[in-house]
Amino acid sequence: MSLNIHKIRNDFPILNQEIYGKPLVYFDNGATTQKPRIVIDEELKIYLHENSNIHRGVHYLSEQLTQRFEDARKVVQNFIQAKSEHEILFTSGTTQSINTVAYSFGERFVFEDDEIIISSLEHHSNIVPWQLLCERKKAKLKIIPVNDEGELLIDELQKLISPKTKIISVTQVSNALGSVIDVKKIIEIAHNHNIPVLIDGAQSIQHGRVDVQDLDCDFFVFSGHKLYGPTGIGVLYGKEKWLNKMPPFLSGGEMIKKVTFDKTTFNELPFKFEAGTPNYVGAIGLAKAIEYIQSTGIEEISAYEKELLTYATEKLNSIKGLKIIGTSGKKVSLISFILENIHHYDAGMIIDKMGIAVRTGHHCAEPVMQRFGIEGTIRASFSFYNTKEEIDKLYYALLTVKQMFG
Ligand code: PLP
Repeated sequence: MSLNIHKIRNDFPILNQEIYGKPLVYFDNGATTQKPRIVIDEELKIYLHENSNIHRGVHYLSEQLTQRFEDARKVVQNFIQAKSEHEILFTSGTTQSINTVAYSFGERFVFEDDEIIISSLEHHSNIVPWQLLCERKKAKLKIIPVNDEGELLIDELQKLISPKTKIISVTQVSNALGSVIDVKKIIEIAHNHNIPVLIDGAQSIQHGRVDVQDLDCDFFVFSGHKLYGPTGIGVLYGKEKWLNKMPPFLSGGEMIKKVTFDKTTFNELPFKFEAGTPNYVGAIGLAKAIEYIQSTGIEEISAYEKELLTYATEKLNSIKGLKIIGTSGKKVSLISFILENIHHYDAGMIIDKMGIAVRTGHHCAEPVMQRFGIEGTIRASFSFYNTKEEIDKLYYALLTVKQMFG
């Protein structure tokens, strides 16, 4: 079954507008995705008719919304195939999810001279929390290298692992290059040494099916806003065997069982990691976004986005002086590129005036830029609501940029 793109575009009200008098072409989906009307309506409905703080009230509104929040947890559980809903923790996003693991796992399991492995392809959100942990605990950060195509050299991982390795944290998809990493292989290698693995799914969850039990990852994290859901909501999946052993990260509110001035005991999972009033509106909105994706069909989304990637790669490659950075055979629908003798920022500004939204810069992945000896790229990231006609517009816009710079 193929996607009805016309209908899909109508589901996203923001796409139907002009920027500088030109129809909006939104190619910044790697930064954040747009929201279908049902997600926006759901949030509006809650604030208009259903709002009440959850878990705390005995009154009707509170009980109803508590139930809907917990139902949202089950929707996420089902979406990523987690064994138990207790393994699904709501956070504010990928960054908070990684910080939670880095702090809490780090407190319990990482000590002086221990080692943590990440990759050269990480977003700053999967670098800095581990660096801070290493500083705090006097541990060491080791890095899996990448080749010229933007593929991780997984064979090198064997050499980096030592009896001191406590955790490996890697992205499933590079936000800067689009490369898809064989995280299953990384997890297999790590588990042969009894090392847990965190997978940053911020750029993979929206492009294909994720099954955390099949991957056998120990932690999996993602953000709602990159998955057609609201901002300020994200997910931390963790195996119960780890979460049960880890101390709380933030404290206060719903995460306690009993508080006296002498001692506090903590609540069960998942509440132990959900301090304070959670973003229940966001969680319910995220569940709606997931239902929208499921009804559209994640396999169909994946197939169509691959078509867009192939089309765009061919088109962009035909532009003289344009170089794609990240040429792995396995990529999501995201293309990073540079233009000979033209600064990415200048190109981005000109393209913007033509109504086309792309991202320029280092994409919060400065080490990736350093590896390729560049300051930044232009990044066009496509979603299933984009079209080949829009890619043509980008192509012509880039030809104009080239012309302007002689
Ligand atoms: N990890 C990756 C791979 C990302 O692409 C991003 C955002 O671009 C993040 C982490 C951080 O996500 P957030 O800002 O939603 O916490």
